[in-house]
Amino acid sequence: MPRRPAWTKVSKEDIAKDTTLVTCAFCKGRGIDPYGLSPLSNCVACGGRRTVLVREPYETCPVCEGTGLYFRSHLYCWTCHGKGVIHVKSKGVN
Ligand SMILES: [Zn+2]
Ligand SMILES: [Zn+2]
Repeated sequence: MPRRPAWTKVSKEDIAKDTTLVTCAFCKGRGIDPYGLSPLSNCVACGGRRTVLVREPYETCPVCEGTGLYFRSHLYCWTCHGKGVIHVKSKGVN
């Protein structure tokens, strides 16, 4: 029996319930890596899909302030992974 990480137990239906698609902040919805070697290379944050899945509730990433960019670099933000938004855990609930 192959062992699986815990997240594989979540069904697609469960994921769809509390997630939403937002425009990729890193490439600004263009789907290409804005700093890639090739203008045809896919955006590393959204994989070229131009949108990214984010769990609700979410808020603007406080680290990159929604730009999806790591501070003073051409890398994607490590906190939001280039999405520009981050999932917010419900306050007061463990
Ligand atoms: Zn992107
Ligand atoms: Zn960020």
